[in-house]
Amino acid sequence: MPMQSIDPTTGQILEGFEPIGSAALEDAIASAAAAAGPWSARPVAERAGRLRTVGAHLREHRSDLARVITREMGKLIGEAESEVEKCALVCDYYADQGERLLTDIPIDSDASRSGVVHQPLGVLLAVMPWNFPFWQVFRCAAPALVAGNALLLKHASNVPRCALAIERIFGESGLPEGLFKTLLIESGRVADLIADPRVRGVSLTGSEAAGRAVAEAAGRHLKKSLLELGGSDAFVVLEDADLDHAVETALRSRFMNAGQSCIAAKRFIPVRSVADDFTQRLLAAIRELRPGDPLDPETTLAPMAREDLREELHRQVQDSLDAGARLLTGGHPLDQPGWFYAPTLLDGVGPGMPAYSEELFGPVAVVIRAEDEPDALRIANDTRFGLGGSVWTLDTERGERFARAMDCGAAFVNGLVKSDPRLPFGGVKDSGYGRELGAPGIQEFLNAKTLWIG
Ligand code: NAP
Repeated sequence: MPMQSIDPTTGQILEGFEPIGSAALEDAIASAAAAAGPWSARPVAERAGRLRTVGAHLREHRSDLARVITREMGKLIGEAESEVEKCALVCDYYADQGERLLTDIPIDSDASRSGVVHQPLGVLLAVMPWNFPFWQVFRCAAPALVAGNALLLKHASNVPRCALAIERIFGESGLPEGLFKTLLIESGRVADLIADPRVRGVSLTGSEAAGRAVAEAAGRHLKKSLLELGGSDAFVVLEDADLDHAVETALRSRFMNAGQSCIAAKRFIPVRSVADDFTQRLLAAIRELRPGDPLDPETTLAPMAREDLREELHRQVQDSLDAGARLLTGGHPLDQPGWFYAPTLLDGVGPGMPAYSEELFGPVAVVIRAEDEPDALRIANDTRFGLGGSVWTLDTERGERFARAMDCGAAFVNGLVKSDPRLPFGGVKDSGYGRELGAPGIQEFLNAKTLWIG
């Protein structure tokens, strides 16, 4: 079966799912299109109220939902609970801010009255990844629904249980029938869906390859698209950094979610004077990680989500070692059931190695040593990705100058790169285009319509 729920901790198949047929797909699109009009005609306050109910539902069922996530994609149970809570927060945020963000904007012109009104586009398609199987969906769905759109979800094929659980949450929270629908379909059917005249926009979070395919289809059919793709975030450590704070954050950023986060710190770039100290401290911290059952609260490193992803990561590590990287710890799959990979640290990484130029989507930290601050900035920007990045220094003005010069969608000074419903999120270069969250996140799939009244 193309869609299977497999427990990454044991490798056992939990359940298989048949993709829906073409008649069911047609029904789903037609129901979403039928639901979108009446939904958009409801007052914003009413739509916002529904999203608040969704948030409350998530909180009420947090433990059960977290278990669904952990069993299906393997993340630590505490991380899964935080993910569900964060989904509730993004519902609250757009429920609170919806009226303000969607209000008409009067603009003086030669009209007696003119300005901008905000109207939804209609039915949207969300193509989503498995790594934050709830969060990625809710950060797209909350603004889209408050804005008055309908949403069809094509989730990653390895998280069908999460996909169906999310659909149930919206249904049980009283959203109109058809307004949010999960489509169990293979990725090969996405282009046809984008081509459908009733689908007015597509939001994809995933790999570059998927991004290119979706953008191509959207371009061909002149549909609005938003792409949240991969990243290889720099984590720059200057000579005056608070190393305790930096190392503790480095560990968290790289190894949470078994390293499978788009905004994980993926390239650690210490300047020469602190490089040994930083690397040794990071190594000591990595050696403390305890792989194990993600349902056990004592476990600190989860399995990877799929076997093929682990194989790809291992290939990247081996090729980097062959090209001259130094292995300080790890570097191999763990010899136990499930898809665990030993927490790994590579030092002496440089150009020509996959660890330098590719995204490493798993528990592998990479050290690229820089001479000084200008060299660190050059290395930080020497990537085709541009999602996030951070710089560590006690001099926050210096940190801000550095952060402004980083070529990415989100630059942090002395902090973990993270998403926050209040702040826009998105990338530049091959990390994609468009913004989610904050005010820009609701505007992406709106018609900012000019009204001119003589
Ligand atoms: P993926 O393989 O690209 O899958 C993402 C989604 O796209 C899945 O639903 C997948 O469906 C679908 N898909 C794959 N190929 C497609 C195609 N040719 N046409 C249409 N849809 C297609 O990515 P992933 O491995 O699940 O996720 C990891 C990647 O996502 C990493 O690169 C990570 O950095 C990135 N990511 C980015 C962000 C961000 O906010 N920028 C957040 C999280 C993850 P199937 O599962 O059925 O193939």
